Amino acid sequence: MAVKTPIYMDCHATTPVDERVLEAMLPYFGEKFGNAASRTHTFGWAAEAAVDDARQQVASLIGAKPTEIIFTSGATEADNLAIKGVSAMHPDRRAHMVTQATEHHAVLDPLKALKRQGYGVTVLPVDRYGRVSPEAVTGAITDETTLVSIMAANNEIGTLQPIAEIGSICKERGVLFHTDATQAVGKISIHVDALNIDLLSLSAHKLYGPKGVGALYVRNRPRVRLIAQMDGGGHERGMRSGTLNVPGIVGLGAACEIAGTEIASEGPRVRKLRDRLEEKITGGLNEVHLNGHPQARLDGNLNLSFAGVDGESLLMGLGEIALSSGSACTSATLEPSYVLRALGVKDDLAQSSLRFGLGRFNTRAEVAYVADRVIAEVNRLREISPFSKRETRVRRRAGKPERHLSPFTP
Ligand SMILES: *Cc1c(COP(=O)(O)O)cnc(C)c1O
Repeated sequence: MAVKTPIYMDCHATTPVDERVLEAMLPYFGEKFGNAASRTHTFGWAAEAAVDDARQQVASLIGAKPTEIIFTSGATEADNLAIKGVSAMHPDRRAHMVTQATEHHAVLDPLKALKRQGYGVTVLPVDRYGRVSPEAVTGAITDETTLVSIMAANNEIGTLQPIAEIGSICKERGVLFHTDATQAVGKISIHVDALNIDLLSLSAHKLYGPKGVGALYVRNRPRVRLIAQMDGGGHERGMRSGTLNVPGIVGLGAACEIAGTEIASEGPRVRKLRDRLEEKITGGLNEVHLNGHPQARLDGNLNLSFAGVDGESLLMGLGEIALSSGSACTSATLEPSYVLRALGVKDDLAQSSLRFGLGRFNTRAEVAYVADRVIAEVNRLREISPFSKRETRVRRRAGKPERHLSPFTP
């Protein structure tokens, strides 16, 4: 079956905007342009009503009350507000916070900044599947601990953290529990009361909404107190000043509403596609390793390492397919992913990883096409690689020393 290229299979980075979301947003770029804080005319009232509806839609997806939703510019801001806002609430004592190694930088970096200022921060390790142990969380909590921040689902390997257990531990110990649920909201069912969550970050563009808008859930009862990180007109009950991004917020609301009604059917459908992709690739190639938890992971996530192949070269060879690799080429050197490192994945295997992020709009035909192309490209690279198995065998037979699998490690 013919498929249209390029194929998008990078849904952990961002998701395409659902057409229904776009439709809902459009009037708020046009005739309904009002400022939601304008109290003196219908333009303002219409915008305010739209924001109220969206607040209800977001709240209802996570089992919260509308007054507990603070709109932000995305999950990065929500994570920063949760961590810095709680720490600023406790200037009288040396706050201590607990997190784990595979968190997003939006959690790790604010904590690093606090640490530089003298706060105590414990970063717990994870097991080889990327899971933190609830017992380790219990052990890390001290009398000074104000906040535990553990993500619901990881953005590279899809691993789901045991947030229900961690939530009850935090409740029992009287410690606030923040979860970066950016990858989980709309994909797995999340209920803030059932999971004892006090603070939760989410982002519209990871659930088929627009970029640049997200929310922080802040529990009302018992009340979680935060110091605002953005001062100004006192929007969002003083917790986040700044004129509201009305079209974005409407889009976030619509995205949450759609996710709520489709989560039950979409999850199994995406999982089936993902499983099919995994079966086809592992059936067609040897020495393929799964990164992340074999069961407890997001339906749309597949993170694989292809021994003997450089992930960046593989990505380049698969130019018509949008994917990510496990090495961040943000710096001059190709650093293997800190997430894979935290799992204990060796650097050469980390360098050979690809992240597939399947979502709402992927098809069976795309899965078949991508699997075939990955198999062909891995075979081609293994053939031509100076570090391929064949060459290793040849060198061994000739009595020459074997070369290391990866060109990036000495
Ligand atoms: C994408 C992502 C973020 C950042 O969200 P933005 O809205 O892009 O700032 C934070 N945490 C996780 C787990 C993510 O996947």
